[in-house]
Amino acid sequence: MKKDVNLRQLIFFKPAFAHKPWGGTGLREEFGYDEPGDDIGECWGISAYPGKESTVADGDYAGLNLGELWRDHRELFGDVQGEEFPLLTKIISASDDLSVQVHPDDAYASEHENGARGKTECWYILDAEPGSRLAIGHNAATREELTEMIEDDRWDELIRYTCVEPGDFVQIPSGTVHAIGGGVTLLETQQNSDITYRLYDYDRITDGSLRPLHKKQSEAVITVPAPEISGMLLHDTSVDDVVRLMTCEYYEVYRITCRDGLGVDFERPFVIMSVVEGEGTISVCEDDKQDDADIRPVRKGDHFIVSAGTGMLRMSGSFRIIASCLPQ
Ligand code: ZN
Repeated sequence: MKKDVNLRQLIFFKPAFAHKPWGGTGLREEFGYDEPGDDIGECWGISAYPGKESTVADGDYAGLNLGELWRDHRELFGDVQGEEFPLLTKIISASDDLSVQVHPDDAYASEHENGARGKTECWYILDAEPGSRLAIGHNAATREELTEMIEDDRWDELIRYTCVEPGDFVQIPSGTVHAIGGGVTLLETQQNSDITYRLYDYDRITDGSLRPLHKKQSEAVITVPAPEISGMLLHDTSVDDVVRLMTCEYYEVYRITCRDGLGVDFERPFVIMSVVEGEGTISVCEDDKQDDADIRPVRKGDHFIVSAGTGMLRMSGSFRIIASCLPQ
């Protein structure tokens, strides 16, 4: 029998990092991550993706990666079923435009990518230089028109762009043409998958050559016609402490703002939390009393999982969290 005490805890993770041609130094300078280089593109804060796992930072499970924790200590996740940990949280900081891309859905990925998952993702914009933009969707009315525009490289005509600012939230279902523009920093919550079809890379030369495109696969999975951008974009102006930004079949995403003190209980098997602004403390409430020993300082850049049965969290300080969990 596992000791019950282990089920009431916050499990902090050390992220994995991805270096990218469009990366920079923002993740080190703004979030305090101890990662060298001037091309840091992605912080994989909560990840069980093979080869890019985040690792438990301290406590009972220190040194285990999230994949191992999911495999060997499923009780921490409320015994939720599934071979692989289902979600993935990244912070992405783009100094330059990312390539325009699209992800398949579960059915296409399963058939064409060795049983892999598709990828639906969403973005909470943390920082955006004035005028920075995202690509979301396209202007082709029919599949024939889509194919024509892609084969004829009519990218300006095809791709839809929209300007964004901090606090904007965007849902990107599989099949949506999308790209993050230079100057944008965001938190991404997504299905645990990395199947990406690159549609257009602005004809850039990277390391002496053009990066390969996947036009045929893209044409096969892009949703036509594209939904209106307005239906995918939400500007979070609520003054509420806890706001649900999205619920879909893969995840729920919440924005939590602690201005002074706050109690939060999601009553879910497990919850992923990333501190994206400010600092303070979080403690696990024991019978409505606070146990000093369990008070944990948190700051911008921290990623942790609230394990099964943890119950009420007491937050104090001034900080903002993006949280995600499986839908009920
Ligand atoms: Zn994507």
